[in-house]
Amino acid sequence: MGSLINLERVLSKAEQQQALSRGEIVSLLEAGEEEAEAIFEAARALRSRHFHDQIFLYGFIYFSTWCRNDCTFCYYRRSNLQSPRYRKTSGEILDIAGSLASSGVHLIDLTSGEDAPCLEQPDGYEPLANLVGEIKRRFELPVMVSPGVVTAAALKQLAAAGADWYACYQETHNRALFQRLRLDQSIDERWEAKLQALRHGLLVEEGILKGVGETAHDVVDSFESMELIGAQQVRVMSFVPQAGTPMEIWPTPDRSEELKVIAVMRLLFPDRLIPASLDIDGSAGLQARLNAGANVVTSLIPPRQGLAGVAQSTRDIDDGCRTVAGILPILEQLGLEPVAPGRYRDWVTAEKRQLARQNADRLVPAI
Ligand code: SF4
Repeated sequence: MGSLINLERVLSKAEQQQALSRGEIVSLLEAGEEEAEAIFEAARALRSRHFHDQIFLYGFIYFSTWCRNDCTFCYYRRSNLQSPRYRKTSGEILDIAGSLASSGVHLIDLTSGEDAPCLEQPDGYEPLANLVGEIKRRFELPVMVSPGVVTAAALKQLAAAGADWYACYQETHNRALFQRLRLDQSIDERWEAKLQALRHGLLVEEGILKGVGETAHDVVDSFESMELIGAQQVRVMSFVPQAGTPMEIWPTPDRSEELKVIAVMRLLFPDRLIPASLDIDGSAGLQARLNAGANVVTSLIPPRQGLAGVAQSTRDIDDGCRTVAGILPILEQLGLEPVAPGRYRDWVTAEKRQLARQNADRLVPAI
Protein backbone atom coordinates (compact mmCIF):
# COMPACT_ATOMS: atom_id res chain seq x y z
CA MET A 1 0.00 0.00 0.00
CA GLY A 2 1.60 3.27 -1.11
CA SER A 3 0.36 5.42 1.76
CA LEU A 4 -2.06 5.52 4.64
CA ILE A 5 -4.08 8.10 2.68
CA ASN A 6 -4.49 5.54 -0.09
CA LEU A 7 -5.48 2.94 2.48
CA GLU A 8 -8.11 5.27 3.91
CA ARG A 9 -9.54 5.80 0.44
CA VAL A 10 -9.69 2.05 -0.29
CA LEU A 11 -11.25 1.25 3.08
CA SER A 12 -13.77 4.04 2.67
CA LYS A 13 -14.78 2.54 -0.70
CA ALA A 14 -15.14 -0.88 0.95
CA GLU A 15 -17.22 0.56 3.78
CA GLN A 16 -19.55 2.11 1.21
CA GLN A 17 -19.63 -1.29 -0.54
CA GLN A 18 -18.14 0.05 -3.73
CA ALA A 19 -16.25 -2.47 -5.87
CA LEU A 20 -12.49 -2.59 -5.28
CA SER A 21 -10.06 -2.98 -8.17
CA ARG A 22 -7.69 -5.96 -8.37
CA GLY A 23 -4.79 -3.62 -7.58
CA GLU A 24 -6.56 -2.29 -4.50
CA ILE A 25 -7.31 -5.80 -3.23
CA VAL A 26 -3.71 -6.92 -3.80
CA SER A 27 -2.45 -3.87 -1.91
CA LEU A 28 -4.71 -4.77 1.03
CA LEU A 29 -3.38 -8.34 1.02
CA GLU A 30 0.20 -7.03 0.95
CA ALA A 31 -0.35 -4.38 3.66
CA GLY A 32 2.16 -4.02 6.50
CA GLU A 33 1.42 -4.49 10.18
CA GLU A 34 0.18 -0.97 10.95
CA GLU A 35 -2.03 -0.83 7.87
CA ALA A 36 -3.41 -4.29 8.65
CA GLU A 37 -4.82 -2.98 11.95
CA ALA A 38 -6.84 -0.38 10.00
CA ILE A 39 -8.08 -3.12 7.64
CA PHE A 40 -9.18 -5.28 10.60
CA GLU A 41 -11.01 -2.31 12.11
CA ALA A 42 -12.90 -1.69 8.86
CA ALA A 43 -13.72 -5.41 8.65
CA ARG A 44 -15.11 -5.39 12.20
CA ALA A 45 -17.23 -2.34 11.41
CA LEU A 46 -18.77 -4.14 8.41
CA ARG A 47 -19.37 -7.28 10.46
CA SER A 48 -21.08 -5.19 13.09
CA ARG A 49 -23.26 -3.48 10.47
CA HIS A 50 -24.47 -6.81 9.08
CA PHE A 51 -24.38 -9.11 12.10
CA HIS A 52 -24.57 -6.83 15.19
CA ASP A 53 -21.53 -8.42 16.88
CA GLN A 54 -23.28 -11.77 17.05
CA ILE A 55 -21.32 -14.91 16.31
CA PHE A 56 -22.37 -18.31 14.95
CA LEU A 57 -21.00 -21.49 16.52
CA TYR A 58 -20.45 -24.67 14.49
CA GLY A 59 -20.08 -28.14 15.99
CA PHE A 60 -17.85 -30.55 14.12
CA ILE A 61 -18.03 -34.33 13.62
CA TYR A 62 -15.34 -35.97 11.50
CA PHE A 63 -17.16 -39.23 10.97
CA SER A 64 -14.70 -41.03 8.68
CA THR A 65 -10.98 -40.47 8.18
CA TRP A 66 -10.83 -42.85 5.20
CA CYS A 67 -10.22 -41.16 1.88
CA ARG A 68 -9.63 -42.36 -1.68
CA ASN A 69 -7.61 -39.21 -2.50
CA ASP A 70 -3.98 -38.32 -2.01
CA CYS A 71 -3.89 -34.55 -1.51
CA THR A 72 -0.31 -33.55 -0.80
CA PHE A 73 -1.20 -31.27 2.13
CA CYS A 74 -3.56 -33.62 3.97
CA TYR A 75 -2.85 -35.92 6.92
CA TYR A 76 -5.71 -38.20 5.82
CA ARG A 77 -4.41 -38.75 2.28
CA ARG A 78 -4.81 -42.42 1.37
CA SER A 79 -1.08 -43.16 1.27
CA ASN A 80 -0.28 -41.75 4.72
CA LEU A 81 0.33 -44.80 6.89
CA GLN A 82 0.72 -42.60 9.98
CA SER A 83 -2.86 -41.37 9.75
CA PRO A 84 -5.32 -42.96 12.20
CA ARG A 85 -8.35 -44.41 10.41
CA TYR A 86 -11.84 -44.82 11.76
CA ARG A 87 -15.47 -44.77 10.70
CA LYS A 88 -17.91 -43.70 13.39
CA THR A 89 -21.16 -45.64 13.66
CA SER A 90 -24.52 -43.88 13.33
CA GLY A 91 -25.04 -44.32 17.08
CA GLU A 92 -21.70 -42.68 17.87
CA ILE A 93 -22.41 -39.80 15.49
CA LEU A 94 -25.84 -39.18 16.99
CA ASP A 95 -24.35 -39.23 20.50
CA ILE A 96 -21.74 -36.63 19.53
CA ALA A 97 -24.37 -34.54 17.73
CA GLY A 98 -26.51 -34.68 20.90
CA SER A 99 -23.62 -33.45 23.08
CA LEU A 100 -22.86 -30.68 20.62
CA ALA A 101 -26.51 -29.64 20.43
CA SER A 102 -26.82 -29.45 24.21
CA SER A 103 -23.59 -27.48 24.42
CA GLY A 104 -25.22 -24.71 22.39
CA VAL A 105 -23.83 -24.98 18.84
CA HIS A 106 -25.92 -23.51 16.01
CA LEU A 107 -25.04 -26.10 13.36
CA ILE A 108 -23.73 -29.66 13.08
CA ASP A 109 -20.99 -30.14 10.49
CA LEU A 110 -20.68 -33.76 9.27
CA THR A 111 -17.27 -34.11 7.63
CA SER A 112 -15.36 -37.06 6.14
CA GLY A 113 -12.75 -37.99 3.59
CA GLU A 114 -14.01 -39.33 0.26
CA ASP A 115 -14.79 -42.70 1.75
CA ALA A 116 -14.85 -45.52 -0.83
CA PRO A 117 -17.75 -47.62 0.57
CA CYS A 118 -20.00 -44.59 0.28
CA LEU A 119 -18.78 -43.74 -3.18
CA GLU A 120 -18.84 -47.20 -4.71
CA GLN A 121 -22.47 -48.12 -4.05
CA PRO A 122 -25.41 -46.59 -5.91
CA ASP A 123 -27.14 -45.77 -2.64
CA GLY A 124 -23.86 -45.23 -0.78
CA TYR A 125 -24.94 -41.91 0.68
CA GLU A 126 -28.22 -43.20 2.05
CA PRO A 127 -26.71 -43.76 5.55
CA LEU A 128 -25.40 -40.18 5.58
CA ALA A 129 -28.74 -38.86 4.31
CA ASN A 130 -30.53 -40.86 7.04
CA LEU A 131 -28.19 -39.39 9.65
CA VAL A 132 -28.85 -35.87 8.40
CA GLY A 133 -32.59 -36.48 8.67
CA GLU A 134 -32.26 -37.94 12.16
CA ILE A 135 -30.06 -35.07 13.41
CA LYS A 136 -32.55 -32.53 12.03
CA ARG A 137 -35.45 -34.38 13.64
CA ARG A 138 -33.83 -34.87 17.05
CA PHE A 139 -31.95 -31.62 17.50
CA GLU A 140 -33.65 -29.16 15.12
CA LEU A 141 -30.32 -27.70 14.06
CA PRO A 142 -29.11 -26.84 10.57
CA VAL A 143 -26.68 -29.43 9.16
CA MET A 144 -23.63 -28.99 6.96
CA VAL A 145 -22.26 -31.96 5.00
CA SER A 146 -18.62 -32.09 3.88
CA PRO A 147 -18.08 -35.52 2.29
CA GLY A 148 -15.80 -34.31 -0.55
CA VAL A 149 -16.81 -34.46 -4.19
CA VAL A 150 -20.01 -36.48 -4.56
CA THR A 151 -22.45 -37.07 -7.41
CA ALA A 152 -25.38 -34.82 -8.21
CA ALA A 153 -27.68 -37.70 -7.17
CA ALA A 154 -26.03 -37.88 -3.74
CA LEU A 155 -26.34 -34.10 -3.31
CA LYS A 156 -30.01 -34.31 -4.23
CA GLN A 157 -30.48 -37.12 -1.68
CA LEU A 158 -28.67 -35.15 1.04
CA ALA A 159 -30.68 -32.00 0.29
CA ALA A 160 -33.93 -33.99 0.35
CA ALA A 161 -32.93 -35.41 3.75
CA GLY A 162 -32.68 -31.87 5.10
CA ALA A 163 -29.01 -30.93 4.73
CA ASP A 164 -28.65 -27.16 4.62
CA TRP A 165 -25.01 -26.68 3.59
CA TYR A 166 -22.46 -28.34 1.34
CA ALA A 167 -18.83 -27.47 2.14
CA CYS A 168 -16.29 -28.35 -0.53
CA TYR A 169 -13.10 -26.32 -0.73
CA GLN A 170 -11.13 -25.84 -3.94
CA GLU A 171 -8.23 -24.65 -1.69
CA THR A 172 -6.92 -22.79 -4.76
CA HIS A 173 -8.46 -21.69 -8.05
CA ASN A 174 -5.08 -21.73 -9.80
CA ARG A 175 -5.24 -24.81 -12.02
CA ALA A 176 -1.52 -25.63 -11.89
CA LEU A 177 -1.37 -25.25 -8.12
CA PHE A 178 -4.58 -27.30 -7.72
CA GLN A 179 -2.92 -30.16 -9.58
CA ARG A 180 0.07 -30.01 -7.22
CA LEU A 181 -2.17 -30.01 -4.15
CA ARG A 182 -5.00 -32.32 -5.15
CA LEU A 183 -3.20 -35.04 -7.09
CA ASP A 184 -5.22 -36.71 -9.87
CA GLN A 185 -8.38 -34.75 -9.09
CA SER A 186 -10.37 -32.54 -11.40
CA ILE A 187 -10.68 -28.87 -10.54
CA ASP A 188 -13.78 -28.71 -12.75
CA GLU A 189 -15.53 -31.67 -11.10
CA ARG A 190 -14.94 -30.14 -7.69
CA TRP A 191 -16.41 -26.84 -8.89
CA GLU A 192 -19.31 -28.58 -10.59
CA ALA A 193 -20.21 -30.40 -7.34
CA LYS A 194 -20.77 -27.00 -5.70
CA LEU A 195 -22.92 -25.86 -8.61
CA GLN A 196 -24.98 -29.02 -8.31
CA ALA A 197 -25.37 -28.44 -4.59
CA LEU A 198 -26.65 -24.92 -5.23
CA ARG A 199 -29.06 -26.25 -7.86
CA HIS A 200 -30.45 -28.64 -5.26
CA GLY A 201 -30.96 -25.79 -2.83
CA LEU A 202 -27.93 -26.37 -0.58
CA LEU A 203 -25.99 -23.37 0.66
CA VAL A 204 -22.33 -23.60 -0.25
CA GLU A 205 -19.09 -22.97 1.59
CA GLU A 206 -16.00 -22.33 -0.53
CA GLY A 207 -12.50 -22.12 0.90
CA ILE A 208 -8.81 -21.61 0.25
CA LEU A 209 -5.56 -22.60 1.90
CA LYS A 210 -3.00 -19.89 2.65
CA GLY A 211 0.69 -20.58 2.37
CA VAL A 212 0.78 -23.36 -0.23
CA GLY A 213 2.58 -21.44 -2.95
CA GLU A 214 -0.23 -19.13 -4.07
CA THR A 215 0.34 -15.50 -5.08
CA ALA A 216 -1.72 -12.48 -4.04
CA HIS A 217 -3.24 -12.54 -7.53
CA ASP A 218 -4.26 -16.18 -7.03
CA VAL A 219 -6.06 -15.11 -3.86
CA VAL A 220 -7.87 -12.38 -5.80
CA ASP A 221 -8.83 -15.01 -8.41
CA SER A 222 -10.26 -17.10 -5.57
CA PHE A 223 -12.27 -14.13 -4.31
CA GLU A 224 -13.65 -13.71 -7.83
CA SER A 225 -14.60 -17.39 -7.95
CA MET A 226 -16.32 -17.13 -4.56
CA GLU A 227 -18.27 -14.17 -5.87
CA LEU A 228 -19.08 -15.96 -9.13
CA ILE A 229 -20.52 -19.01 -7.42
CA GLY A 230 -22.30 -16.92 -4.80
CA ALA A 231 -20.90 -18.88 -1.83
CA GLN A 232 -22.84 -18.10 1.32
CA GLN A 233 -19.81 -18.92 3.48
CA VAL A 234 -16.17 -18.29 2.58
CA ARG A 235 -13.16 -19.49 4.53
CA VAL A 236 -9.38 -19.33 4.57
CA MET A 237 -7.08 -21.51 6.61
CA SER A 238 -3.32 -21.39 7.01
CA PHE A 239 -1.49 -24.44 5.78
CA VAL A 240 -0.07 -26.56 8.61
CA PRO A 241 2.51 -29.23 7.67
CA GLN A 242 1.36 -32.78 8.41
CA ALA A 243 3.61 -35.73 9.30
CA GLY A 244 3.88 -38.40 6.64
CA THR A 245 2.84 -36.14 3.74
CA PRO A 246 4.92 -34.76 0.86
CA MET A 247 4.48 -31.28 2.36
CA GLU A 248 5.60 -32.20 5.89
CA ILE A 249 8.62 -29.87 5.70
CA TRP A 250 6.77 -27.05 3.92
CA PRO A 251 6.65 -24.04 6.29
CA THR A 252 3.43 -22.85 7.84
CA PRO A 253 2.81 -19.20 6.88
CA ASP A 254 2.85 -16.26 9.24
CA ARG A 255 -0.69 -15.98 10.62
CA SER A 256 -0.90 -12.30 9.60
CA GLU A 257 -1.40 -13.56 6.04
CA GLU A 258 -4.55 -15.54 6.95
CA LEU A 259 -5.84 -12.66 9.07
CA LYS A 260 -5.53 -10.21 6.17
CA VAL A 261 -7.41 -12.62 3.90
CA ILE A 262 -10.19 -12.93 6.50
CA ALA A 263 -10.42 -9.14 6.73
CA VAL A 264 -10.41 -8.62 2.97
CA MET A 265 -13.10 -11.30 2.62
CA ARG A 266 -15.21 -9.30 5.08
CA LEU A 267 -14.69 -6.14 3.00
CA LEU A 268 -15.63 -7.94 -0.21
CA PHE A 269 -18.40 -10.16 1.23
CA PRO A 270 -19.72 -8.09 4.14
CA ASP A 271 -22.94 -10.08 4.66
CA ARG A 272 -21.46 -13.58 4.17
CA LEU A 273 -20.37 -15.99 6.89
CA ILE A 274 -16.62 -16.16 7.48
CA PRO A 275 -15.21 -18.78 9.86
CA ALA A 276 -12.55 -18.30 12.51
CA SER A 277 -11.21 -21.83 12.54
CA LEU A 278 -9.99 -23.46 15.73
CA ASP A 279 -8.31 -26.12 13.57
CA ILE A 280 -5.10 -24.18 13.09
CA ASP A 281 -4.11 -22.55 16.38
CA GLY A 282 -6.85 -23.73 18.73
CA SER A 283 -8.55 -21.26 21.04
CA ALA A 284 -5.29 -19.24 21.28
CA GLY A 285 -5.82 -18.10 17.70
CA LEU A 286 -9.51 -17.30 18.01
CA GLN A 287 -9.29 -13.71 19.20
CA ALA A 288 -7.10 -12.62 16.27
CA ARG A 289 -9.40 -14.23 13.71
CA LEU A 290 -12.50 -12.66 15.22
CA ASN A 291 -10.69 -9.32 15.38
CA ALA A 292 -10.03 -9.66 11.65
CA GLY A 293 -13.77 -9.83 10.93
CA ALA A 294 -14.73 -13.51 11.13
CA ASN A 295 -18.23 -14.26 12.45
CA VAL A 296 -18.38 -18.07 12.75
CA VAL A 297 -16.42 -20.21 15.22
CA THR A 298 -15.55 -23.65 13.80
CA SER A 299 -14.87 -26.50 14.64
CA LEU A 300 -16.26 -26.91 18.14
CA ILE A 301 -16.28 -30.39 19.61
CA PRO A 302 -17.50 -32.06 22.77
CA PRO A 303 -14.51 -32.41 25.16
CA ARG A 304 -12.58 -35.68 25.33
CA GLN A 305 -14.03 -37.17 22.15
CA GLY A 306 -10.59 -37.75 20.60
CA LEU A 307 -11.84 -36.51 17.26
CA ALA A 308 -9.52 -36.33 14.32
CA GLY A 309 -9.99 -34.57 11.06
CA VAL A 310 -8.56 -31.17 11.71
CA ALA A 311 -5.20 -29.69 10.84
CA GLN A 312 -4.05 -29.78 14.47
CA SER A 313 -5.96 -32.82 15.65
CA THR A 314 -4.78 -32.80 19.26
CA ARG A 315 -4.82 -29.05 20.00
CA ASP A 316 -7.20 -28.15 22.83
CA ILE A 317 -9.17 -31.38 22.32
CA ASP A 318 -8.96 -32.72 25.85
CA ASP A 319 -8.93 -29.58 27.96
CA GLY A 320 -12.34 -28.27 26.99
CA CYS A 321 -11.02 -25.22 25.12
CA ARG A 322 -12.72 -26.23 21.86
CA THR A 323 -16.15 -26.39 23.42
CA VAL A 324 -18.83 -23.70 23.44
CA ALA A 325 -18.21 -23.11 27.17
CA GLY A 326 -14.47 -22.91 26.49
CA ILE A 327 -14.71 -20.14 23.91
CA LEU A 328 -17.47 -18.01 25.49
CA PRO A 329 -15.02 -16.01 27.66
CA ILE A 330 -13.08 -15.08 24.51
CA LEU A 331 -16.25 -13.81 22.81
CA GLU A 332 -17.18 -11.86 25.91
CA GLN A 333 -13.75 -10.25 26.10
CA LEU A 334 -14.22 -9.00 22.55
CA GLY A 335 -17.71 -7.64 23.16
CA LEU A 336 -19.20 -10.42 21.03
CA GLU A 337 -21.90 -12.95 21.85
CA PRO A 338 -23.35 -16.11 20.33
CA VAL A 339 -26.45 -15.44 18.28
CA ALA A 340 -29.75 -16.85 19.61
CA PRO A 341 -30.27 -20.31 18.00
CA GLY A 342 -33.45 -19.24 16.23
CA ARG A 343 -31.64 -16.32 14.58
CA TYR A 344 -29.16 -18.66 12.92
CA ARG A 345 -31.97 -20.90 11.63
CA ASP A 346 -33.72 -17.77 10.32
CA TRP A 347 -30.55 -16.69 8.51
CA VAL A 348 -30.20 -20.10 6.87
CA THR A 349 -33.89 -20.17 5.90
CA ALA A 350 -33.72 -16.69 4.36
CA GLU A 351 -30.60 -17.61 2.35
CA LYS A 352 -32.20 -20.84 1.12
CA ARG A 353 -35.31 -18.94 0.03
CA GLN A 354 -33.16 -16.46 -1.87
CA LEU A 355 -31.23 -19.34 -3.45
CA ALA A 356 -34.48 -20.99 -4.55
CA ARG A 357 -35.49 -17.74 -6.27
CA GLN A 358 -32.07 -17.43 -7.97
CA ASN A 359 -32.16 -21.06 -9.10
CA ALA A 360 -35.00 -20.25 -11.45
CA ASP A 361 -32.60 -18.38 -13.75
CA ARG A 362 -29.14 -19.29 -12.43
CA LEU A 363 -26.41 -19.30 -15.08
CA VAL A 364 -23.68 -21.94 -14.89
CA PRO A 365 -20.46 -20.16 -14.05
CA ALA A 366 -17.18 -21.78 -15.07
CA ILE A 367 -13.76 -21.04 -13.60
S1 SF4 B 1 -8.08 -33.06 1.69
FE1 SF4 B 1 -9.98 -34.22 1.70
S2 SF4 B 1 -9.98 -35.22 -0.34
FE2 SF4 B 1 -7.87 -34.60 0.06
S3 SF4 B 1 -6.88 -36.39 1.00
FE3 SF4 B 1 -7.64 -35.06 2.66
S4 SF4 B 1 -9.64 -35.88 3.19
FE4 SF4 B 1 -9.10 -36.66 1.18
